[in-house]
Parts: sequence; C-alpha cells; structure tokens
Amino acid sequence: MNCRRCNGLMGPVSLLDPLHETGKLWTVAWQCVNCGEIVDSLILQNRENLPPPLIGHARLKKFNPVSRSSSKRNSS
Ligand SMILES: [Zn+2]
Repeated sequence: MNCRRCNGLMGPVSLLDPLHETGKLWTVAWQCVNCGEIVDSLILQNRENLPPPLIGHARLKKFNPVSRSSSKRNSS
C-alpha cells in the first residue's frame, strides 16, 4: 500500500481506539514512513463518502467587520 499524499511506503501500526464501533480497543491502521499519514478503515470509508469538490463554485466569504463604536467600551 502506498501513501496517497507522497506515494511513500506505508506500514501497519496499532492504534488505541476506545470509540471504535466494533468495541475493540486496538485497531490496525496504516502509517506512511515518509510523511506520517495515518489511514484506517474509518478514514478510508469517510473519504469515499465525501462529496466531490464543486469546481467553479467558490466559497463565499462571510465577513462581519466589527465596528469601532461597538467594540469600544464607554468609560463614562
Ligand atoms: Zn506519505
């Protein structure tokens, strides 16, 4: 198995996962020896269920500037 980030070699690692749905305390994952990327079955499942990126649809900026009059406290 090769890393999706850097195409490096991945090896099995045991991770403590007390919230795993099977109830097992330890789970086996794969870790890249180059960049440290860790993937397990849940991460792979979530990546497959991720919706594709919306090409040409930029995320709108939500910017609420704080006005000076509301941010200052009145000392009098
Ligand atoms: Zn990697």
